[in-house]
Amino acid sequence: MFLCRQCGHCCQGETTVSLDPDDLDRMIKHLKMTRGEVMKKYLRETHNVIQMKIVDGHCIFYREGCTIHHGKPWRCSQWPLHPSILYDEANLNAIKDSCPGISRKLDYEAFCRKFTEYLALK
Ligand code: SF4
Ligand code: SF4
Repeated sequence: MFLCRQCGHCCQGETTVSLDPDDLDRMIKHLKMTRGEVMKKYLRETHNVIQMKIVDGHCIFYREGCTIHHGKPWRCSQWPLHPSILYDEANLNAIKDSCPGISRKLDYEAFCRKFTEYLALK
C-alpha cells in the first residue's frame, strides 16, 4: 500500500504542516531545548499558526531525510495515508501525484480495503 522512497518531496515547498500543542511539546522534548529556543531556531508563527521554518525551499529539519523523525509533527507521521483517501478517489490520485511511495498496483477499492484494515490495527 505504501513504502516511503525517501524522495523528500513532502518536505519541500514554502510552507510546512502546522503544529498543534502536542507536536510542540514533543518537539521540545525531543530537541532537549526550551520552548523559546525551539521557537526561535526552528519555528515561525503567523496569525497563531505555528509551522516549521523553511530553509532553501524545504523544511528546516530536512537534510536528505527527516532529521527529527521521533519529534516530528503528527501530520508528518500520518502522511501520505490521509483519511480523506477513503472518501474520494480524487484525493488518492492527488496524493499519488506528489508521493511516489503510494502503491500504483492496487486499484482504488483494494487500496481502501487495505487502508481501512491498517487504520483498524492502529
Ligand atoms: S513524498 Fe512520499 S515517498 Fe517521498 S519522502 Fe514523502 S512520504 Fe516518502
Ligand atoms: S518535520 Fe521531517 S517529515 Fe516533517 S516536513 Fe520537516 S523534514 Fe519533513
